[in-house]
Amino acid sequence: MSATTPPTTTPTTTPTTGASPTTVAAYAAPAAKAPLERTTVPRRPVGEHDVLIEIKYAGICHSDIHQAREGWGEAIFPMVPGHEIAGVVTATGPAVTRFAVGDRVGVGCFVDSCGECTYCKQGLEQYCSQGATGTYNAIDKNGEPTYGGYSTHIVVDENYTVRIPDGLSLDVAAPLLCAGITLYSPLAHWQAGPGKQVAIVGLGGLGHMGVKIAHALGAEVTVLSQTLRKKDDGLKLGADHFYATSDPTTFEELAGTFDLIVSTVSAPLDMDCYLALLKTDGTFVNVGAPEEPNSLNMFSLIGGRKTLAGSMIGGIAETQEMLDFCAEHGLGSEIELIRADQINEAYERVLASDVRYRFVIDTATI
Ligand code: NAP
Ligand code: ZN
Repeated sequence: MSATTPPTTTPTTTPTTGASPTTVAAYAAPAAKAPLERTTVPRRPVGEHDVLIEIKYAGICHSDIHQAREGWGEAIFPMVPGHEIAGVVTATGPAVTRFAVGDRVGVGCFVDSCGECTYCKQGLEQYCSQGATGTYNAIDKNGEPTYGGYSTHIVVDENYTVRIPDGLSLDVAAPLLCAGITLYSPLAHWQAGPGKQVAIVGLGGLGHMGVKIAHALGAEVTVLSQTLRKKDDGLKLGADHFYATSDPTTFEELAGTFDLIVSTVSAPLDMDCYLALLKTDGTFVNVGAPEEPNSLNMFSLIGGRKTLAGSMIGGIAETQEMLDFCAEHGLGSEIELIRADQINEAYERVLASDVRYRFVIDTATI
């Protein structure tokens, strides 16, 4: 279907509590690298512990593109991407205690986990030893594929649902469910704060939330971007300094500067150059998920007792903590609201680093 085709008349039904699954409108990639198009997908009946959410907004994460194009390996199609979901509860299962109809809620990158392993018990469900169930491109406990947020409704266990505080509008809150928590978690874990020199590499969806959050935590923040094109924006977002990585003098000038570097870059980097920017005992945390492997010279770590680390999203309790922190500090995402028929165009702009700074789909247009 082309972007100009009017919405199909495929009948959809509103899911309610009951025995049979229902069908909802969605945008899906029918196959790897194929453009996304309007379709319908099944949603399970609202179970004992489930909430039915009417999705209002869904953010577009670069991970959606990696997966829809099978950049990370074989994927499940048709694929309805979307793991930055903000909406309103419209029905609850009989055993639900934490949410009521009308509540403003969010769903992030996973919708289930074993609940019993050491990581789940510590609130680190994203590192569940059985593997957390992805919001899309995954198979759930019933053997059914999961479908994400580019859709009108979703049914989710209340334990994998978070509350969006009143101080945040749903549209600017949606990207916090992945971009926000993916930066909040390492910044909190590696104690970005007053007296710390923190660099954020890549000013895209994740990076711009990293700048806002690191600034709110009290760190001195530097953006390392490919060019100076986004400099004015970066400084407005809260950065103290802004450098272009295409300029080799940047690496000379900033050698040995940072306590913490968080890279959000979706492509391989020259690691040796970036590790040289750390102080002794500094840490480079990679959150970007490039499709190709990266290499480094081990001497880049040895000289200076440096740490190379990774971090993946955050647990449910930490995601709630992040949303409360963002509401308290007035930190929403900078968004470009789009119609569903603009998703394919938005993907191209993300790939060209031309996003200011998160595309968010108005799901009423699906
Ligand atoms: P994004 O909006 O596309 O931002 C990535 C930014 O990286 C771009 O805006 C660009 O910033 C920079 N960049 C892109 N290509 C580059 C290159 N070849 N060399 C140097 N810099 C480059 O993507 P995103 O949604 O923020 O996601 C970023 C990455 O994180 C993706 O790989 C995504 O899959 C991954 N991710 C990981 C997690 C996790 O839990 N660890 C969660 C979500 C996403 P400048 O224009 O400023 O240079
Ligand atoms: Zn994401």
